[in-house]
Amino acid sequence: MSAQPNTHTQPTAIGHYIDGRMQAGAGNSVPSYNPATGAVIGAVALASAQDVDQAVKAAEAAFPAWSQTPPLKRARVMFRFKQLIERDMDKLAATITREHGKVFSDAQGELVRGLEVVEYACGIPELLKGDYTEQIANGIDAWTMRQALGVCAGITPFNFPAMVPMWMFPMAIACGNTFVLKPSERDPTTSLMLAELLTEAGLPDGVFNVIQGDKTAVDALLDHPKVKAVSFVGSTPIAEYIYARGTASGKRVQALGGAKNHMIVMPDADMDKTVDALMGAGFGAAGERCMAISVVVAVGEETADTLVAQLVPKVRALRVGEGMNDTSEMGPVITSQHREKIVGYIDDGVMSGAELVVDGRDHRVAGFEQGFFLGGTLFDRVTPAMRIYKEEIFGPVLCVVRVPDFATALKLIDEHEFGNGTAIFTRDGHVAREFAHRVQVGMIGINVPIPVPMAFHSFGGWKKSLMGDHHAHGPESVRFYTRQKAVTQRWLSGGAGGGGAQFAMPTH
Ligand code: NAD
Repeated sequence: MSAQPNTHTQPTAIGHYIDGRMQAGAGNSVPSYNPATGAVIGAVALASAQDVDQAVKAAEAAFPAWSQTPPLKRARVMFRFKQLIERDMDKLAATITREHGKVFSDAQGELVRGLEVVEYACGIPELLKGDYTEQIANGIDAWTMRQALGVCAGITPFNFPAMVPMWMFPMAIACGNTFVLKPSERDPTTSLMLAELLTEAGLPDGVFNVIQGDKTAVDALLDHPKVKAVSFVGSTPIAEYIYARGTASGKRVQALGGAKNHMIVMPDADMDKTVDALMGAGFGAAGERCMAISVVVAVGEETADTLVAQLVPKVRALRVGEGMNDTSEMGPVITSQHREKIVGYIDDGVMSGAELVVDGRDHRVAGFEQGFFLGGTLFDRVTPAMRIYKEEIFGPVLCVVRVPDFATALKLIDEHEFGNGTAIFTRDGHVAREFAHRVQVGMIGINVPIPVPMAFHSFGGWKKSLMGDHHAHGPESVRFYTRQKAVTQRWLSGGAGGGGAQFAMPTH
């Protein structure tokens, strides 16, 4: 598929989805862009605190009936939702490409990863089964069960407009909660499409709601007394803010933050496969993935020399272009401001003495001159004191750090403030095992560059990459979106005498 730039269409008004219906926003709006053309394509409503209250009230009203709906019936809605996503996959993916810029095949891939969580949610009757112990004392049995919390909220970033919301709401809803989602204002449409599909799948009105907005909407969710739990994914400063404000008002909060993912390349690694893996992990989605590899830690000078020599021609040859053009490997970044921020980081890297081996700052795409494009950038001889090493750039910039040995590589990763994902490429099983065992990071790849756990495991980083006790999706999400109740039961058989009151702590 290919698309011509079109900068003349009228922006679409993008509103909320509350109580089973689209609702136009009443107040201010912000523009959204097609990052490939630079054109304004949407006017995104910014919800007021009153709009948020309306969505929360709809979710609150839907909660009693939905939480009492048997898990099997809730699972059936998820089955139908899954089929509808499959039916509309290309339409959804094209919308993601239009608003986010990532290439169409990558948008399809993000939907598949989100769909896997829906498939996991289809197993909710099994996942909600509690524990039972017969005869904990004579004639007494005990069991635990997990019950829904009430209204849950999700606040999500721009970089996965389908997958990240789908880490949250399918599990929250399958567990019996109702949900209010506040997607990124930069690519707001996919959430509305998913909301319509849920309604088509038979989800009762009010169980899933979408409000568009910025800090005002987020603060209203964080402070709302009827919101019981908040899931957040985004940058670390905002994650810290969400965690502090949400927990201060008594909510359960999981807040996933930013990343600076390192890949160690050992001297014995298969260099061809390592370089291919690095190209996808560093430059896929223009580096705008929380699991992108942004730092390569090359062990030994010879490893570094070979790696850089093989990377240079590939980075130069990256096919950068509009996402619906199926020859494109990498699309634009999200906004012109973000493009300028990335260029600023590259300038800073040059000034601080890193060796700029491939410079993507002036890359232009013919026919898309107003788009927010950058070429791939490669830095060698980056040191831990540099800003380009310390901070998350979130763009197509790969930094090579040279270290003498494995122990130094490990120490480097452990001393970084982020701990989302990391990988090692080696043929040595012992080194790989040591790495997985020792490294202070939440998600580890061994000869796997982007180790995003599947839906039936849980996703989450360590250190400043996650605040809260629960990771996203998988078994951890069942724990996050439910609370446990323990029942101890005795049925008296009748007959004479109760044996008198007992005042000591019961022990049998
Ligand atoms: P962001 O933090 O700017 O925005 C995330 C959400 O928070 C959006 O919905 C936004 O509207 C809202 N928000 C922004 N500023 C706010 C404020 N001052 N107060 C309240 N709410 C506010 O993040 P982004 O730029 O959309 O996404 C990129 C970031 O997300 C990167 O740092 C990336 O690493 C991170 N991310 C992390 C993961 C993970 O799993 N750890 C996954 C995806 C993205």
